[in-house]
Amino acid sequence: MAHKPRKRFGQNFLQDPVYQQRIANSISLKDGAKCIEIGPGKGAITAHLLRRFSEVEALEMDRDLVTLLEKKYVDSGLTVYQGDVLKADFRQLAGGKRLSIIGNLPYNISSPLLFQLIENLDVIDEMVFMLQKEVVDRMTAGPGTKTYGRLSVTTGLLLHSEKLFDVPPGAFFPAPKVMSSVVKLRPRSDVDASLDRKVFDGIVKSAFSQRRKTIRNSLSEWASAEQLTALGVDPQQRAERLDIDTYVLLAKNLKPGTTRD
Ligand code: SAM
Repeated sequence: MAHKPRKRFGQNFLQDPVYQQRIANSISLKDGAKCIEIGPGKGAITAHLLRRFSEVEALEMDRDLVTLLEKKYVDSGLTVYQGDVLKADFRQLAGGKRLSIIGNLPYNISSPLLFQLIENLDVIDEMVFMLQKEVVDRMTAGPGTKTYGRLSVTTGLLLHSEKLFDVPPGAFFPAPKVMSSVVKLRPRSDVDASLDRKVFDGIVKSAFSQRRKTIRNSLSEWASAEQLTALGVDPQQRAERLDIDTYVLLAKNLKPGTTRD
């Protein structure tokens, strides 16, 4: 029986063979690393991955699609695990190897999934994801631009992100309402291990929660204008003007509730 797309699983199947191949070709696999696909669906990207790699492991929530994939790709090098990727243990999946992870992600789980993956970067070499264009634009934005915000800073601290290309709604069935983009993410090797991520996230959250205000106001809980100036940061700046290194500098020198005004 034909499979009917399920909205609750964020099912927008990629139909266009040119984009299917382009996405599959965007991921690389180092010697001894594993290729993991999130949400293989009916195998749009999987089929191209199996032409490139001898083994692919995939995580799919929809039981009917797992059955379909197991029939379609029998003896092909594909292993499908049925379940919710948000409950997956990536460290266990890696089994001592490194991971290259790819997926046309269900948009409704993309944020929690990215946060989950960020906690497992030590076993990840590379990730290639299709996401809403708006999310990719925010992730890859630089300081001083309209889309630069909390997501740009928090992902930029830990990941190199490179937007690869856009994919129009007409490439899918059913067509989503929004434009999509493909992004490549690689863990940064230069993350300062002594940085307190909770403090960093807290400062970035405070700064961007009132992005129209100067940081003198939005960061008043964290620092006085004098403290900011002493660190070489202009208190009259707005959050969107500060680069990631400046947020790191603030996080390494400030603690909440220590304002001395
Ligand atoms: N890769 C296919 C393609 O490009 O046509 C399907 C992409 S579709 C946007 C997202 C896929 O993720 C669907 O197959 C859906 O069933 C699956 N999915 C949704 N939520 C999931 C979850 N929490 N864990 C694992 N798979 C999930």
